[in-house]
Amino acid sequence: MIVGVLGAGQLARMIALAGIPLGLDFIFLDPSADACANKLGEPLIGDYNDPNLLAQLAERADVVTYEFENVPAEVAEFLASHTQVHPSPKALAVAQDRLVEKSFFRDLGIPTPDYAAVDSFESLEQAMITLGYPAILKSCTQGYDGKGQSLLKSADDLTSAWELLQGVPAVGRIGSLPIATLPPSLAVVEAFVPFNREVSIIAVRSVSGDVVFYPLSENLHRGGILRVSECRADDPMQQQAETYISRLLEALDYVGVLALELFEVDGKLVANEFAPRVHNSGHWTIEGAETSQFENHLRAILDLPLGSTAPVGNAAMVNFIGGLPKTEELLAITHAHLHLYDKSPRKGRKVAHATIRAENQQQLSKLIKKLTALADQVDDS
Ligand code: AMP
Repeated sequence: MIVGVLGAGQLARMIALAGIPLGLDFIFLDPSADACANKLGEPLIGDYNDPNLLAQLAERADVVTYEFENVPAEVAEFLASHTQVHPSPKALAVAQDRLVEKSFFRDLGIPTPDYAAVDSFESLEQAMITLGYPAILKSCTQGYDGKGQSLLKSADDLTSAWELLQGVPAVGRIGSLPIATLPPSLAVVEAFVPFNREVSIIAVRSVSGDVVFYPLSENLHRGGILRVSECRADDPMQQQAETYISRLLEALDYVGVLALELFEVDGKLVANEFAPRVHNSGHWTIEGAETSQFENHLRAILDLPLGSTAPVGNAAMVNFIGGLPKTEELLAITHAHLHLYDKSPRKGRKVAHATIRAENQQQLSKLIKKLTALADQVDDS
């Protein structure tokens, strides 16, 4: 079987690393010749909407999936008319626009922060009268790892935040494609949520409709970028998170891995965003669960039986951003497992992660401290 993947970054690489033992072959479409998954399959190098490359992918791949959600939805739709594409282009289209995503959550009874659509500086000022400070202004498209976002602490921040938004491309990271500037109507301002913690839930649904859930991940972000994820087996919020993500699975007729990021505020969950793909907060599942999110994503889209999501020990993941620790130093930490992405270090770039699997919570906390100390030494963000 041949799996086509749109994007050849670290997520595609980890999908392939999980699929090779299952006898799968991979074709990756990515604008970058040195994308880090390319060595693990056959690379098609060019724009995501290159008709020639898309035709090759459609003809040769038994199923197509994606590793990031900013692939143009029309590309997924074109492919879906020629071959199997999972998750559905609809999931991609909803996740690509924060405003559409938020109203989708609301329609499904999934709580979100208070928010307002913004289409001019005046409408931003108007919205702030109702929302109050602090708030966050986010571009509707192209926002990931905190990009295209500004914290609004007071009315003094409005002008600079609005100006910053004007530079956000409506269609970005698409190789050499022309990049349109964001039309001013495409922003959302939302109330700052004074959360107790951030969690995410990862669910998997197969073509046949079988569903499994991973235990919640508790996530620590800094500067809008995920730093640490810890598996929380038996978390009191598990049930509520499963209820919300199940509504998304159903409404999107979803197939594959779906991640839902949530804030916990006073014992209640509020949705931030969802990702229609394998997710950074689920990387701990490689060593920390019986079946990794990557393997289960492949099982789901190929309609194979789903694997157990049971945690193995107490697991956590630490991201390395902007730089790499010395391999020897990291591997000297008992129970640490290093995953290098084969990407050259660059400011703010995720270049590796490490998973730790400990025997108990106390040991896990100690090991997380050791790993984050190493990560902080090389972190330039
Ligand atoms: P996002 O790109 O929307 O996932 O945001 C990145 C990170 O910024 C989140 O994981 C939070 O740590 C923070 N953040 C985003 N939106 C809010 C909000 N409404 N209230 C508080 N923190 C937020």
